[in-house]
Amino acid sequence: MNTKLDPWGSVNIEDYSKLFEEFGILPFEDRYSEISNPHMYMRRKVIFGHRSYDLITDAMKNGTPFAVMSGFMPSGKVHLGGKMVMDEIIWHQQMGGNAFVGIADREAHAVRGMSWKECREIGINEYLLSLIALGFEPEGYIYFQSESDNVKDLTFELGVKANFSELSAIYGFGGETNIAHMISAVTQSADILQPQLSDFGGPKPTVIPVGADQDPHIRLTRGLAHKMNMFKIEGRVGSNGEKYLSVRGKSAPEGALAEVAERAPGETKLFEAHVDVFGTDDYITLLDVVRCVELEFGGCAFMPPAATYHRFMSGLQGGKMSSSIPDSYIALTDEPENAAKKVKRAKTGGRVTLEEQKKLGGEPDRCSVYELLLFHLVEDDNELAEIYSECLNGKCFCGRCKSLAAERMAGFLKEHQELRELARDRLDEYGL
Ligand code: SF4
Repeated sequence: MNTKLDPWGSVNIEDYSKLFEEFGILPFEDRYSEISNPHMYMRRKVIFGHRSYDLITDAMKNGTPFAVMSGFMPSGKVHLGGKMVMDEIIWHQQMGGNAFVGIADREAHAVRGMSWKECREIGINEYLLSLIALGFEPEGYIYFQSESDNVKDLTFELGVKANFSELSAIYGFGGETNIAHMISAVTQSADILQPQLSDFGGPKPTVIPVGADQDPHIRLTRGLAHKMNMFKIEGRVGSNGEKYLSVRGKSAPEGALAEVAERAPGETKLFEAHVDVFGTDDYITLLDVVRCVELEFGGCAFMPPAATYHRFMSGLQGGKMSSSIPDSYIALTDEPENAAKKVKRAKTGGRVTLEEQKKLGGEPDRCSVYELLLFHLVEDDNELAEIYSECLNGKCFCGRCKSLAAERMAGFLKEHQELRELARDRLDEYGL
């Protein structure tokens, strides 16, 4: 395994396709045709990968319940990278998803040493005002980890199923890692699974829109969701070559397996720790039966969470965006004029001289100004395609592009900051 994903560090992933091979993330292209009104990030392949997103496209098509969930660690200014996650949450909310947003104050306290007061202030003043200003509706659920009994209780239950070796393999934790940091990893899993608790309507497909660096949380949570469940369904082949399904339930309470045997489709044979089901390959119906029985016997019947993965924006000066280099990113609370100046200083994919640019064309794929247009500032795909092709053909020059991007960025921030002030008066609608 060559690519290291670290949710608390900075990651520069050169080749996203490696993530398909190394981590089993699937290409998003496979799901694209299933979505009637795809988000700009889907159309433009900014969202490049997914796990189990078929559950979400099915729910959107069938009008059945699904949820979208993501969290923000309140440790600094919210920038355009955070806006991407907010945009994706809001889009799923508009598509009918029940939306959850967690402010990861326990994580910020454990990992970054932030005080609880700072966490609250940054959580609201940076992140939540922008989330509401961007269009998050009050039907969604916003909470702070430290104030959610559901999340704290579920963290404890998940902690029973997670061990140090597993956390160490996924996150690279060692002997020096403090316990609260480990707990905060499991708390993220509780955040992700919370939408499936009975308080919120029980098990349902839940998508977590993230940057690829957050995949360790998704992998940990998918594993824990399986471990929390009472039953496991396996395909088996008998000595006579007959295929059948088997429901394993070692930790199921007394009577639960017998109930599965009673309700399962096909012919069943009950054993001490499993039920064999013959004469059917109807996995979906059996899964429904198993989930219903688990819920009736006090389990959670979690579905493994789905995820979408988006590309990172590069820093405005090339390389990575870094919170310690203000010129490398634009915060949603930056003064619009300052943000416009940052855009004008940004690294482009232009050639050294105008003559070269005319002759060879520019390199939009290596241009941070083009990235701003692609990710945030040009809604119309045709307009964007025109800029791209004019750049490649040497008909577009960096000065013109920068002016366009700077003007739109300043305009966006001005309007966004006005909406943030209106959001401040609406916080009580969101229970804040
Ligand atoms: Fe980037 Fe525009 Fe220059 Fe092309 S012309 S390299 S898109 S700034």
